[in-house]
Amino acid sequence: MAHTIILGSNFAGVTAALELRRKVGKEHKITVVSPTEDFLYVPSLIWVPFGRRKVKDITFNIRKVLEKKKVGFIKDAAVRVDAENSQVHTEKHGILDYDYVISTTGVKLKFDILENLHPEAGMIENIVIPKYAEKAYDKFKELVKDPGPVVVGATQGASCMGAAYEYLFNLEKTLRKHKVRDKVEITWLTPEPYLGHFGMDGMTGAETMLSSFMKMFNINFVTDASIEKIEKDKITLKNGKVLPYKMAMLMPPFTGADAMLNSPELIDDKGFVETNDGYQHIKYKNVFAAGLAVQVKAPFKCESTPFGVPKTGYPSDVTGKIAAQNIANMINGKDKFVEKGFGDIPAMCVMDAGNKEVYIFANKFFRPRQFAIMVPNVLNDVGKVFLEKYMIYKNKKGLSFLP
Ligand SMILES: Cc1cc2nc3c(=O)[nH]c(=O)nc-3n(C[C@H](O)[C@H](O)[C@H](O)COP(=O)(O)OP(=O)(O)OC[C@H]3O[C@@H](n4cnc5c(N)ncnc54)[C@H](O)[C@@H]3O)c2cc1C
Repeated sequence: MAHTIILGSNFAGVTAALELRRKVGKEHKITVVSPTEDFLYVPSLIWVPFGRRKVKDITFNIRKVLEKKKVGFIKDAAVRVDAENSQVHTEKHGILDYDYVISTTGVKLKFDILENLHPEAGMIENIVIPKYAEKAYDKFKELVKDPGPVVVGATQGASCMGAAYEYLFNLEKTLRKHKVRDKVEITWLTPEPYLGHFGMDGMTGAETMLSSFMKMFNINFVTDASIEKIEKDKITLKNGKVLPYKMAMLMPPFTGADAMLNSPELIDDKGFVETNDGYQHIKYKNVFAAGLAVQVKAPFKCESTPFGVPKTGYPSDVTGKIAAQNIANMINGKDKFVEKGFGDIPAMCVMDAGNKEVYIFANKFFRPRQFAIMVPNVLNDVGKVFLEKYMIYKNKKGLSFLP
């Protein structure tokens, strides 16, 4: 009997747990350890700050789904992985022994790069953590009552620029809906060297499309932006530019989660798990990682302002499947080892652009690619809504084998 522990219960963790369950006999034990029983459809958090979704609309109980499929669930946070002794230390359930472990613990937001960046300081909004996305909605309602300049963007070192772009375009659309758009000057700040780099070295047509959106929606923008100082009503850039604001939302950089930061033998200097292309740790052969927890090296150089690679939902699913397959092969005594480097995974995404959306497809996440296209749908954002419904349905039903 082999015992596999999966740390984390969102995109990568659920996929890995259920795929492994499908591929190994019932005598082998699988346990998910996670501090929450809630599965959160993270991409729809961009709609919470405008009241289009409530957090409860995009959350459901994943424990029941896992237990129905004969995967154990322990509601607890891992404190660290002791890879030498094949043990997970938890906050409340002591030490758990494993034969295999998969870390899918996601990220920690690094607010400490700038004073006052943390939403608790009461100056800058955040859309990654549900309670702060709800707080951002309160701030938005205040802005509608008393309009003024807004700054939106991502700080130096950030990697999730795509979600910040989506927030930007939804903000612009919703201000128009409330008939106060003409009273709000919007400035977009990004560490990218050009619009539409996305931390993916760009996509064919992306810069042109994003530039035309900025022009069409009358949004000022600063690329290669590095923030020096955040104060109560103004943001100062390293180039000396000062941007007054009544409301601001900035995407911070990410590091690995605390449980991984406490497991130094497994991680790089940012807390991400160092794996090979089969998502197996480079030294500990029974340790795997998937999703945001995996180290991904950028294939491009940041000439000036630093920023990172976005790890989107599709690769999180694929890496979860690959890690599960490789553990299943090891348990079942098969010699086969599946590999697909992160950069070779296709890019598939829908970017909400207000009442519009852009479908992004590339056969590889990183260049060289054989094709990369961005197809705009200027009529509505039905694709983004469809994807939300599909992903929530798929995970509620435990249909992990689907794409
Ligand atoms: C606002 C926003 C919008 C996005 N929009 C898109 C989009 O449109 N399309 C797209 O493809 N991608 C999008 N993404 C990226 C996408 O959400 C991620 O790729 C995906 O969430 C990664 O899944 P994951 O399972 O690796 O990590 P997460 O979803 O972050 O899950 C991490 C899991 O680990 C658990 N955990 C944390 N600490 C511990 C611990 N100590 N012990 C045990 N468990 C722990 C957490 O509770 C959680 O269950 C967006 C991201 C954000 C922030």
